[in-house]
Amino acid sequence: MRDFENDHGMMIFGGMKAAEIADRFGTPVYVTDEQILRGNYRRIHQAFNKYMPTEIHYACKANTNLAILSILNQEGTHIDAVSIGEVLTSMKAGIPPERIMYTGVNVSDAELKALVETGCRINVDSESELERLAKITTDIPLSFRITPGVASGHSAKVMTGGKGAKFGVPFSRAVDTYARAKDLGFEVKGIHAHTGSGGLSTEPFTDVVEVLCGLVNDIESETGIQLEFLDFGGGIGVPYKMQEEEIDMDEVAMEVTEIVKDETKIKTLALEPGRYIVCDSTILLTRCVDVKDAGPKKYVGVDAGFNTLIRPAFYDSYHYVAIANKFNKACTAKYDVVGPICETGDYLAHDRVLPDPEEGDVIAIYNAGAYGFTMSSNYNSRPLCAEVLVNEGEAELIREPETIEELWRHQIIPERLRR
Ligand SMILES: *Cc1c(COP(=O)(O)O)cnc(C)c1O
Repeated sequence: MRDFENDHGMMIFGGMKAAEIADRFGTPVYVTDEQILRGNYRRIHQAFNKYMPTEIHYACKANTNLAILSILNQEGTHIDAVSIGEVLTSMKAGIPPERIMYTGVNVSDAELKALVETGCRINVDSESELERLAKITTDIPLSFRITPGVASGHSAKVMTGGKGAKFGVPFSRAVDTYARAKDLGFEVKGIHAHTGSGGLSTEPFTDVVEVLCGLVNDIESETGIQLEFLDFGGGIGVPYKMQEEEIDMDEVAMEVTEIVKDETKIKTLALEPGRYIVCDSTILLTRCVDVKDAGPKKYVGVDAGFNTLIRPAFYDSYHYVAIANKFNKACTAKYDVVGPICETGDYLAHDRVLPDPEEGDVIAIYNAGAYGFTMSSNYNSRPLCAEVLVNEGEAELIREPETIEELWRHQIIPERLRR
């Protein structure tokens, strides 16, 4: 796992003291290092393109901040979008619709119409969606999401590719569905599958690519359609624990591209990393507001809760925690790091040894860039927090903190209740 520099007991992030970023912008605050973000994109792009032309479709549900999307647009990214909101947000950041591929599930007719108007690519999830799309237009290049019968992930909640999953055209229906699309007059260009999220081994990727390559050939021999691209989804995991090693991207790239080149005439590969691009680029800074010795347990009470970062409460996810202003101090005791939400399930970390936490300390939660801010909520009527971008010693606000007044902005009290 990635750790950070230590300057006389102060954690350094993006060339700045993390505690000073917290002082300047307030807490809680998500802070992204632009250089780490660019480095992650370049590492995965180069790993694959060394072997064959490969499009990196950043799965933007991991983090849709417009500044982050703008940085990735400069890098030349493609986008994997799962809603019309994500398509339009990516376009707002300057990414052209041809570089955005929409992969939805249970897509409404209204959403299909809106998607067609944007000009983005559509990766169709079901036979129903295909028939409904054909009523709107057939003048659009298509691909299909197939249920590959291969699942992976850090939690059962995020496994998407197993047999019987709600996602994709069932494997046994795949060839017929391609034939039907051809009959309807569509130009069918690609095939896609996504097994799940957060795996650290190469097998799910090679397994799903094997499955897709077999299908590419079946589709060609049975329908005459020669597919141009194969997209094997996202799900590349990131180590969240200090002793965990990161996945060897060059090995994944070599093994995957070898299968595709050996077995098919596919010209372009695509993959959809979300977590891998943004996860370790961002920390969440939160301030210790209360320290409590509750007998069998000691608590560090902080100003971020599961409204700010839901992953520990929702998936039992592990996030590494450090005190940014006591970065080199010896740890003294075990604490739970808990937030201000009125539920016992509101925690950020369990049983962490920390150096004598005190009120005012700045706690850094690592690996907060993926599914952090995007899953935050207003629960307990707490405004969404700020986001900051740091780059080689400079910091800029990229999202203002929400105000209390903004919590009320769409609510209506009927006149008769005001009397
Ligand atoms: C969520 C998702 C991804 C990205 O998953 P990560 O684990 O963040 O890499 C890719 N493709 C699809 C279709 C997804 O739904």
